[in-house]
Amino acid sequence: MNEKFYDVIILGAGPAGLQAAIHAARRKVSVLVIGQSAKSSAYRAHIDNFCCTAAQSGAELLKIARDKAEQAGAECLEKDVMALEAENDAYAVETAGGERFKTHALILAMGISRNKLNLKGEKELVGMGVSYCVDCDGPLFKGEPVAVVGDGSAAVGAALTMVFYASEVHLISGKLDVDDFLADKLRQSDVLLHEGRKVTEIKGDSAVSGLILDNGDALTVTGVFIELGAKGAVDFAGKLGILLDDTMKYIAVNRKQETNLPGVYAAGDICGPPWQVAKSVGEGCVAGIEAAAYAAGRKKKP
Ligand SMILES: Cc1cc2nc3c(=O)[nH]c(=O)nc-3n(C[C@H](O)[C@H](O)[C@H](O)COP(=O)(O)OP(=O)(O)OC[C@H]3O[C@@H](n4cnc5c(N)ncnc54)[C@H](O)[C@@H]3O)c2cc1C
Repeated sequence: MNEKFYDVIILGAGPAGLQAAIHAARRKVSVLVIGQSAKSSAYRAHIDNFCCTAAQSGAELLKIARDKAEQAGAECLEKDVMALEAENDAYAVETAGGERFKTHALILAMGISRNKLNLKGEKELVGMGVSYCVDCDGPLFKGEPVAVVGDGSAAVGAALTMVFYASEVHLISGKLDVDDFLADKLRQSDVLLHEGRKVTEIKGDSAVSGLILDNGDALTVTGVFIELGAKGAVDFAGKLGILLDDTMKYIAVNRKQETNLPGVYAAGDICGPPWQVAKSVGEGCVAGIEAAAYAAGRKKKP
């Protein structure tokens, strides 16, 4: 089978992957980005806490990033990767279309998949009241009633943060799973706790208007923050033998964004929270520079 070789291959066309491409391609190595920007977490997001561009639409931000990556010399392939394996001293990548590529330097920037409630209306109302990120969207709900759904410290932290913005904060938890310190803080706060409850319905046509709980209670809220954690790219990482961090959910990297495998780097959400564009592009920059240097070093070897 025909296999094209690139000095650096980047998996993922979100902020981390595209920033890595910009920095790697400027170092005169061949760079291929494989991934679909429309599947990036940022694509449908309204981003107003990123310092460095006036663009607030995630789709627009990604278009700017992709144009810059291509101007720097990177090639972009809008495909998903289905298989990834180590072959002798290189890494082989196979796309959903059956194309195969090889590289010495691989950057994993495949993001995360946020755990969902999987309720009717949830997907449709993302950005119109449904959010997975208090840091990103919390200030948009100033003076409005909101709910947070989840059991862990991220959910409790999100509810406590929202007290500063919202007129009323409900926390809906099947069973709280936090340490005593956080449990005390929650008890002393104005958060209205609905423990032992589940959300059965998100109400609203063009924007969230309320929630229905499994005991029949109806809550009037304009925002619902779903804080149920996220899945990382454990499958891909596991098959290659890449080590995960202490949480066993994200890829473990050092300050050079190196994983435990030679020539394999990771950047962005896939390396763990905070799940933010600013962190992703910072890590992408480092990964791009380091991967390009590694690839250039390999080229010099006979
Ligand atoms: C609703 C919402 C609002 C948000 N608001 C903000 C905000 O206001 N401010 C902020 O800073 N952040 C915000 N975020 C978070 C931000 O979008 C992420 O932190 C950022 O997009 C992470 O970048 P990334 O490149 O690591 O991953 P992503 O942007 O998720 O990109 C991952 C890429 O990998 C690709 N990929 C995955 N699997 C494969 C595969 N098998 N083969 C090939 N490609 C693959 C995907 O298609 C995608 O191109 C928000 C997120 C959401 C969901």
